[in-house]
Amino acid sequence: MIFSQMFDMLDVGIVILDSELNVFKWNRWMATHSKLPPEKIVGKSLFEFYPDLNTPWFLRNCKSVFTFGNFAFFSQKLHKYCFPFKAYNTLGSDFEFMQQSCTVGPLRDENNRITYIYITVQDVTEVAAYENKLITMNTRDGLTGIFNRRYLEAKLKEEFDRHIRYNRPLSLIMLDIDHFKKINDTHGHQAGDFILKSLATTIDERIRAVDIVARYGGEEFCVLLPETTSESALALAEFLRMGIEAEIYHFKDKSIKITISQGVSDLSDGVDSAEALLKKADDGLYESKRLGRNKVSMISNKKKVQ
Ligand code: GH3
Ligand code: MG
Ligand code: MG
Repeated sequence: MIFSQMFDMLDVGIVILDSELNVFKWNRWMATHSKLPPEKIVGKSLFEFYPDLNTPWFLRNCKSVFTFGNFAFFSQKLHKYCFPFKAYNTLGSDFEFMQQSCTVGPLRDENNRITYIYITVQDVTEVAAYENKLITMNTRDGLTGIFNRRYLEAKLKEEFDRHIRYNRPLSLIMLDIDHFKKINDTHGHQAGDFILKSLATTIDERIRAVDIVARYGGEEFCVLLPETTSESALALAEFLRMGIEAEIYHFKDKSIKITISQGVSDLSDGVDSAEALLKKADDGLYESKRLGRNKVSMISNKKKVQ
């Protein structure tokens, strides 16, 4: 009696299954979240209500607990959840289902035989949501939502090492809005913010899923292009330059036009580190500014492409 009260008061789900994987016990927590009262599910096969659990992976784990008396863990990171319950405590993240950590363990009778197994279900949605939020805050730029400088620098190093190891092409574009201070001065800081957000979207829409666009500084962006030769990177930069030059950004009653200057770099001679790749793109950008802006430049063995 006391035990069954405890069983129902716990803030975790507890299911007890027999050797046929029929439900023997279903505590109140499970009933609340599943909207299935014990009378409805006890005595029935678990798979009658949760057919998606009827997988070789789940069966193997249950069998192993029955046979060897070990424990099985279903982590939220790997499996997200066992039981599809609606998520609460999502902290603004978009989890549709409750994220769960589950443990399966043996229950022995007086003769030490495993006659039942139990599953505990813990709601870890809030922890998972916090973790996602932290990852976003660490890797994304607050204004534009694209990757931030920290993420770019980490990725740049990783991609540089990988592409050198496999002798594969890697390119980088660094770009900066021309006379952006004038945009702020003429139309206001809010309009400037709007332009930054819109530009991030414009670039993001024109690159591949494997490319990485990041806000590098105030009005400076980088596009990292894995498996891309400098010829293709220059073509993309030109495509971006023309696309942005032609775009009219509408903010409130204002129509704003911008141009960008760009520098391109690749893994050619002298680029022996991620920093050198960045420096070479920055040099190209500086050259574009020097040449009058709204340009693409690549400083390569003293040869300039415009
Ligand atoms: P250049 O063509 O030489 O790049 O000229 P510029 O005016 O774009 O360059 P400058 O470095 O003189 O000015 C950059 C401006 O970008 C100044 C700064 O107020 C603005 N800026 C930086 N970050 C933000 C931001 O988050 N929002 C807004 N609205 N403006 C920003
Ligand atoms: Mg600028
Ligand atoms: Mg700048």
